[in-house]
Amino acid sequence: MSKLPRIPVAAPSLIGREAEYVQECMTSTWISSIGRFIDEFERSFADFCGVKHAVACNNGTTALHLALVALGVGPGDEVIVPTLTYIASANTVTYCGATPVFIDSDPSTFNLDPAQLEALITPRTRAIMPVHLYGHPADMDPIREVARRHGLWVVEDAAEAVGARYKGQRTGSLGDCGVFSFFGNKIITTGEGGMVTTDDDELAKRLRLYRGQGMDPERRYWFPVIGYNYRMTNIAAAIGLGQLERIEDHLGARKQVAATYAQRLAGLAGLCLPTSAPWAEHVYWMYTVLLDSTSRSRDEIMSTLERAGIETRPAFYPLHTLPPYAGLAKGDYPHALRIGDRGLNLPTYSALRDEDIDRVVAALTQALG
Ligand SMILES: *Cc1c(COP(=O)(O)O)cnc(C)c1O
Repeated sequence: MSKLPRIPVAAPSLIGREAEYVQECMTSTWISSIGRFIDEFERSFADFCGVKHAVACNNGTTALHLALVALGVGPGDEVIVPTLTYIASANTVTYCGATPVFIDSDPSTFNLDPAQLEALITPRTRAIMPVHLYGHPADMDPIREVARRHGLWVVEDAAEAVGARYKGQRTGSLGDCGVFSFFGNKIITTGEGGMVTTDDDELAKRLRLYRGQGMDPERRYWFPVIGYNYRMTNIAAAIGLGQLERIEDHLGARKQVAATYAQRLAGLAGLCLPTSAPWAEHVYWMYTVLLDSTSRSRDEIMSTLERAGIETRPAFYPLHTLPPYAGLAKGDYPHALRIGDRGLNLPTYSALRDEDIDRVVAALTQALG
């Protein structure tokens, strides 16, 4: 075992006024789901994404569920979701009584391949959910074009891609609504938290209605619909505002980490480094390499790195290979399977130092033999 301190795969960076703002919640006793930090976090987040509305939630999964509920996705409906994503993307469709329809990935961006959309659309399809995987935006123009032609909603799962840009526009502003996560390992965090962004005034009203147990905003304790309690606390929003005020530092540091990896790993045999499409600004939630077929298995390489005190993560197992969704495969998904089998997430967080990256690179070089 390594004597050096362990390098985690992710770590939050609380470099701003988070503690001061949380203390203000304590002193003022505004610790529940009303307070100035909720309003300011929502307002600043909407401005950051370039949209009119942002609705804060208690995590990214509830935010995604809320978005689908507010759009009216229900039993019998289908939503097209990449098979290569975090399970929450598909689970929230299932929570609605709808069915996720899996789509394969583009081999270079790891995001859903728009060329395969048309073949998966049925009379039951209601929405497409592109996921900006690992911080690289999906190719939105062809996705929106297909959605427009078939009258489908576009729900961005931007949980991993706060700040990323597609043709100059931020994620969260690229579909009918966008969904973010502020879990502890995400680009900015509130501990647990999420957000839905939209430009649609009516949708924003429905998001707020369903988030707050369905209570009529004009008539207290009158419930026109069955809603949920998906509210964020003022304490979480206080952390979020502190994080968001330093967003450029968080994004800049990740970009620097990615550039250092790219430089030090260049030319290493057995490895394929992440690329960024010409229209994309990648925010590197996770710096993800693909091990090629000549190297040892991904899991052996992960164990070797673990013994050197370096935590890594496997790329997501394609959802159609997991027990709850095994019956839903529609085809072979060769690209998702290859990425799922050979993809490795290296430690990626803003406080990662050059000497940490050197250790990761040295251990990986050795593991690849
Ligand atoms: C993290 C994540 C979510 C869920 O967010 P939580 O805050 O963990 O509930 C959803 N989709 C994707 C792609 C994610 O990475």
